[in-house]
Amino acid sequence: MINPGSWLGILGGGQLGRMFTTAAQTMGYKVAVLDPDEGSPAGRVAEKHIVAQYDDHSALSELTRLTKVITTEFENVPAESLSLLAASVATRPNAEAVAVAQDRILEKTFLSECGVTVAPFETLTDQNDIQDSELSILLPGILKASRFGYDGKGQRSVQTVEEAREAYAELGKVPCVLEKRLPLKTEISVVVGRNVQGLTEIFPIAENQHRNGILDLSIVPARISRDLASEAESVAIHIARELNYCGVLCVEFFVLENDELVVNEIAPRPHNSGHYTIDACSLSQFEQQVRILAELPLGHPTLSSPAVMYNILGDLWKAGEPNWEEVVRRNDVKLHLYGKDAPRPGRKMGHITALDRDCDQAIKTILEIKQVLEA
Ligand code: ADP
Ligand code: MG
Repeated sequence: MINPGSWLGILGGGQLGRMFTTAAQTMGYKVAVLDPDEGSPAGRVAEKHIVAQYDDHSALSELTRLTKVITTEFENVPAESLSLLAASVATRPNAEAVAVAQDRILEKTFLSECGVTVAPFETLTDQNDIQDSELSILLPGILKASRFGYDGKGQRSVQTVEEAREAYAELGKVPCVLEKRLPLKTEISVVVGRNVQGLTEIFPIAENQHRNGILDLSIVPARISRDLASEAESVAIHIARELNYCGVLCVEFFVLENDELVVNEIAPRPHNSGHYTIDACSLSQFEQQVRILAELPLGHPTLSSPAVMYNILGDLWKAGEPNWEEVVRRNDVKLHLYGKDAPRPGRKMGHITALDRDCDQAIKTILEIKQVLEA
């Protein structure tokens, strides 16, 4: 075990890093953040902010001098940097798991090999891969760049082979997957913590609603059957095991009309849909990340209250500062802002969690708040 008072390291200084840092500091740890952005949300609160690129060798060695264990909050951290760090310190998760999660081609191939159902797809690495005969069964579909996509970025909806060709060029002719567009009944996500001993703990499942490819709402508990919930949990644990995963992992699922489960993607870190755990669980996904990193006993998450989380995007600033008073005047509503200066459209600036014994009431509260803020 790594004692409180010691340093923990993290690659990436976004909001996930900030919430990790706060959780670590609450438990008495010091945090060193590596992030090239001087004003990064986590860099602002950590004891140490190393301002450098993720592949800067001297910055990486500075991190290893401070701490014996390093995690990541950002899946596009070069997996080579993690491998380099792994030569002298423990990295949780391991570089291989991050490499799989950051590349859709590797990710979908890996998941299929593990016997997990994914959306039908084809890998496109060359213009010539786009042939009518093979691709038409995947249409209408979504062309997704294999790397560096997030919040629906790096994706194009395509109806025809011709559109797939155009979209491939628009995305810069980078390696892509073409995925069949599935009729979704709903989407859910499972956040699982797995420690060095291979023990696992699951957070309550979230039901997710997206808008323009970005998470809008998470509703917990997800309104799905018990059987479906336990199936999703087993799949998540199976994936964590197959990756020899150590840390917090999120598995995003599509639920189809007949309750068939399809894995959409995995994230090698805490997840936006798990932010509700801060206010509504016996421990948060970030505290779990700290516990796993420091080899403290794994926490057993229990839900203290149904919760609905709403993402605050930069769009809300279009007419100046949003009306926070209307939010915080309510009981059982928690406002989280990440301390970002520039509220650009589509940028995640914060989130709001509404708690209520009655989940429908929590949904109603969030819909009322949305109406006020988005007016
Ligand atoms: P990101 O990495 O940006 O989160 P995702 O692949 O998760 O990208 O896609 C974002 C959202 O787009 C999904 O949560 C889902 O709502 C929708 N989507 C993605 N792929 C499909 C698909 N094959 N069929 C139907 N909807 C999809
Ligand atoms: Mg996603």
